[in-house]
Order: sequence, then C-alpha cells, then structure tokens
Amino acid sequence: MTSEPMFRKVALIGFGLIGGSIARGAKSLGLASEIVATARSPQTRERVRELGQEFGIVDQVVETNAEAAEGADLIILCIPVGACGDVAKEIAPHLKHGAIVSDVGSVKAAVVKAMAPYLPEDIHFVPAHPVAGTENSGPDSGFAELFINRWCILTPPEGTNAEATEKLAAFWRTLGANVEIMTPEHHDLVLAVTSHLPHLIAYTIVGTAEELEGVTQSEVLKFSAGGFRDFTRIAASDPTMWRDVFLTNKDAVLEMLGEFQEDLSKLTRAIRRGDGDALFDHFTRTRAIRRGIVQIGQDEAAPDFGRRHKQLGTKAE
Ligand code: NAP
Repeated sequence: MTSEPMFRKVALIGFGLIGGSIARGAKSLGLASEIVATARSPQTRERVRELGQEFGIVDQVVETNAEAAEGADLIILCIPVGACGDVAKEIAPHLKHGAIVSDVGSVKAAVVKAMAPYLPEDIHFVPAHPVAGTENSGPDSGFAELFINRWCILTPPEGTNAEATEKLAAFWRTLGANVEIMTPEHHDLVLAVTSHLPHLIAYTIVGTAEELEGVTQSEVLKFSAGGFRDFTRIAASDPTMWRDVFLTNKDAVLEMLGEFQEDLSKLTRAIRRGDGDALFDHFTRTRAIRRGIVQIGQDEAAPDFGRRHKQLGTKAE
C-alpha cells in the first residue's frame, strides 16, 4: 500500500484484460481513492459489478463512458484502438480541468490522430501502451501482476505537460512496469517488428495448417508439440483487437512485411540450393536473440516456456 493514493478518482473505460489488470493492480496497491469502471455491453458491466462486490477491484460501475469520465483525475481508455476516437468525442465535454487522459492501445499514431482533436486544451493527453498481455480477453482475464517487469511506452504529443507525463509514468512504475518515452511513429515501427508481424505470421501459419490437404485436422492437433502449438497461443488472440491493429498500423506493418518477405526468400533459396551454411548461420544468429531476451529478463530461461513435463513412468491422461 502506498501512503497517499496517487489519484483521487480513476476512470477505466473498457474492462477486459488490460482494464481489469489495471484495476486489480491499482486497487491492491492503493493507487486511487476511487476506481470507476464501465464497458460497452450490459453483460460486461454486470460482471464487473459482481467482481467489484466480490473482490473489491472497482468501487463503482457506471452505464456510460461520459459518466465514468465525469470528475475523474485520470481516465484510461482500455478499449480497441478503432473505438478510441468516438469515445474521446463522447467524454470530451465531461472532462475535469487538469485531468490526465490516457489509453492503452497497441498502436499509437492512429490513436493520437483519432483522439487529440476532441480533447480540450485544459486536459493532459498522455497516450500509453503497456507491452504486456496474454491471449485471453474479457473482465475475468485480468490479473494484478500482468505489468511487472514489462515495458510501458508513453507517447506524449509535443508540448504535453511534463508533470502530467511523469505522474502517469509513476502510476505505471508502481504497477511494476518500466517506462520509456518515444514518439507515436517510432513506437508503431518498433511494435510492428516485435509484436504485429509475429502475430500476423502466427495467424497465417495456423490458418495454413488448417487448410492443408494431405494432412488431416486431427494430425495437426495431435502432432502440434512440434512447434505449431506455440503459434496457436498467439493466433488465439482477440480478433477485434488485432483487426484494429492491422487497420491502424498499416504502413509500418507493410514495411516490415516487405523486409520479412525478402528474408523468407533468402531462406527459401538456401533450402532450394541445399546451402546448409546459410541456414546454419541464420539459425545461430536467431538463437543468440533468444538468449539476449532471457538475459535482459524479458523471459524465463526455462526450456519449452516452462511447461511441466510428465514424469517418466506416469501414464498420459
Ligand atoms: P478486451 O479484453 O477485449 O476488453 C476490451 C474492453 O473494451 C471490453 O470491456 C469492451 O466491452 C470494451 N469496449 C469495446 N468497445 C468499447 C466502447 N466503444 N466503449 C466502451 N467500452 C468498449 O481487450 P484488451 O485485451 O483489454 O485490449 C484493450 C486495449 O488494450 C486494446 O486497445 C489493445 O490494443 C490494448 N492492448 C492489449 C494487449 C493484449 O495483449 N490483449 C496488450 C497491450 C495493449 P464489452 O466487453 O462490453 O465488449
């Protein structure tokens, strides 16, 4: 518990994996005197209300985005990127003087472009992207520890009040994240390589395997431990979220896709020509990248993503 809450009223608009994780973390750390939440559908709002009553992760659930924003010191949009502009328009007349408005969208330039025109001059707009997630979504999927040792990238537009940016940075640091500041355009390029392209590849591979003639569906599932199942986790990510990511980060993704296709052509040529040295050199370089990720603490060293293996002599279920 911190001694004094960092914010009086925090409004979470959207309550899925990210909104739910912020609420759980902020509540258990005492970061806000009051957390007010809302979501698009009555079903989600009802579920959040139940979670609030049972576990105390929110103080109040309201029916509209405008109502949530009313009088809040920090408003975070935890909704799909494509909905951010409309919601900014809806909440704009209800924002308190000096409030901080933020979001958690996986794309930044398009979100800034969609939201900024609606936000009044006397509020502080500090867009954010916590680079943390799982393939699950919905109000039950969040957990307080999601952001620990993950990066949260802030992309404040030029001229944003430095104190407001620092206050939001401190909020994320208390939730366990490391904070970095960059421009929205640079963010989108970096994330196109590290997140958007890998998701597109996973969506492609899993779709291709499903359509393969000569290999049955049941064989794909049965022998999936050969590498395929690790792609299926990524390809199970939320369809709405990822549709919006590719629609709104089109240019950076297409640029990276061009690079990827060139590299794929090189590997294809090496296989066709039987060029073992080229393949070996390439795989040696990629193995070093994995080790680097473990070294800087962005993943565990445990083999096979730490999956537990059955003991010898026990029967498979
Ligand atoms: P999620 O679990 O699907 O939750 C989305 C929430 O937004 C739901 O509560 C939904 O309400 C609500 N919503 C949708 N449209 C809305 C609107 N117009 N007004 C108010 N609420 C609305 O999604 P998530 O994974 O938390 O992702 C939310 C954002 O975080 C996205 O922008 C995504 O890019 C970003 N992000 C996601 C991850 C990840 O790994 N999932 C990681 C980092 C950042 P209903 O339930 O009623 O539909």
